[in-house]
Amino acid sequence: MDQNSPEVMTAIQAAIKASALCEKIRMDLAGGESLLKSDRSPVTIADYGSQAMICKLIKERFPNDTIVAEEDSKELRRPGRSKILERVTDYINAFIPDSSSEEVCSWIDFGSNSVSGRFWALDPIDGTKGFLRGDQYAIALALIEKGRVKLGILACPNLYADIHHPFGEKGCLFLALKGNGSFQMDRWGVNKGPIFVSKVTNPSEAVITESVEPDHADHLTHQRLARKLNISKPFLRMDSQAKYGILARGEVTLYLRVPSSAEPGYKENIWDHAAGSIIAEEAGGRVTDVMGRPLDFSSGIKMEKNHGILVSNGILHEVVLKALKM
Ligand code: AMP
Ligand code: MG
Repeated sequence: MDQNSPEVMTAIQAAIKASALCEKIRMDLAGGESLLKSDRSPVTIADYGSQAMICKLIKERFPNDTIVAEEDSKELRRPGRSKILERVTDYINAFIPDSSSEEVCSWIDFGSNSVSGRFWALDPIDGTKGFLRGDQYAIALALIEKGRVKLGILACPNLYADIHHPFGEKGCLFLALKGNGSFQMDRWGVNKGPIFVSKVTNPSEAVITESVEPDHADHLTHQRLARKLNISKPFLRMDSQAKYGILARGEVTLYLRVPSSAEPGYKENIWDHAAGSIIAEEAGGRVTDVMGRPLDFSSGIKMEKNHGILVSNGILHEVVLKALKM
């Protein structure tokens, strides 16, 4: 698969459109409407809208492909939810004029929850809590063939594009193609440049990223590991798979995700890691679970064979795995 493949063009277009939709919703809600937090519906609006637009585009171009995605329209179709469905439809109409609510529901339902030989994995909004807080979130889309990720795209609409100007222009896209490298683009999908992981060889110089949400990873264990490895640089906490993007562009060295003690048996969803993992790997990084096992994208929507996640610049991977076992 090269950069001009129809799959790549479709993925980029879908990610750009969904980002624009999510940002529009986020801006409209920026006035601090309390409705936001009470019933989470604004998030639902963005989730549903993003999934509808992306699934519609993929199905038009690749009618035989399966899309494994987080949402379905069951909840939206309930009579009590008609206001929410109306809002989703209104937002979609700004991008796809004359769309009906029925069509929107049917596009959302292109998503299924069974994996096959070739399928797309979609998280229409990864990092929902970041989206609500006005922090980081990502639209994550990957193409998986025979259990291997072939293409991954992450749209990070609220992430600074230039690591030297964290308060500068926001919004970027990360793209990776198996065997062809990782790239960062601006939010319009242009100015594409290759990205590479950091070359740090001494663990003490590493910078760690982890989830903002304490329930999503074991922050205490991460701190213990940092002490073991003499890592003293401050952690960079970030929501969503944007963490994979900042590791791929060399901004941080390690992404730790030891399962939280609140939910030690938690199994990760494939759409939370498929796109991010290929972006880190194709930039020169390594991605395994915390036991050193490869990520399992072939068993189902849950990564049943894995426990936690470890992403590194490759060079430090074994050292960290060893320290995790001690
Ligand atoms: P992050 O923003 O990296 O913390 O990850 C967000 C993702 O964490 C969401 O998409 C959820 O699917 C996922 N998640 C939810 N609960 C847990 C949990 N207990 N452990 C790990 N991940 C979780
Ligand atoms: Mg997610």
